[in-house]
Amino acid sequence: MNYEIVLATSNKNKLKEVREILSPHKIVVYGLNDLGIKIEDIEENGKTYAENALIKAKAVQKVTSFPIIADDSGLEITALDNRPGMHSARYASAMGGHANAIREILKDLSDKEDRSARFVCDIVLLNVEDKPLIFEGIAKGTIAKEPQGEGGFGYDPVFVSDETGTCFGTMPEGEKNTVSHRGKALKKLLTYLRINGFVPL
Ligand code: IMP
Repeated sequence: MNYEIVLATSNKNKLKEVREILSPHKIVVYGLNDLGIKIEDIEENGKTYAENALIKAKAVQKVTSFPIIADDSGLEITALDNRPGMHSARYASAMGGHANAIREILKDLSDKEDRSARFVCDIVLLNVEDKPLIFEGIAKGTIAKEPQGEGGFGYDPVFVSDETGTCFGTMPEGEKNTVSHRGKALKKLLTYLRINGFVPL
């Protein structure tokens, strides 16, 4: 039998990445749109990624008893005091989209030697155990000098993975998940579900 789970997002790219990892393990991942769930604009006012992920998961918990996963993620750039960090999505919308946000970041980094950065992703699992469980993934890398590729979403065109030496934006389908923050957090979640008997080993 399939294990059904709701991903607390309407972001198609996130849904695709999550499905890529979980679907081969008989886990059916529904996005909010698949279930016709509409969540009012949630104020993500947590102090950490985990708190924000929990806020999203709890908003969905009001309308479903399915197991829920919610992720909160961000890009931390060392030379910019870890900006945009938890405000990565808000920063992009304030700038009128990721292309503009990327342009601004490249400008801010133009006189900096240190281009190191990391993506952080915290995933909360709710409605499975008595308390929420958190899984974290971190991807280390550097910010490219200019945008590359058409793949992925958000800041992917300028994030070069330390592990592959290539940009998330240029990675062939499926490769990003092998080294990304979300991929790493999801693999921890998957291990939890497997060793605790929720899905087959
Ligand atoms: P969230 O949806 O509130 O977690 O916002 C995450 C934001 O961080 C996204 O809107 C992007 O700006 C950025 N981000 C998170 N993960 C990724 C990724 O895998 N690639 C590119 N940008 C990402």
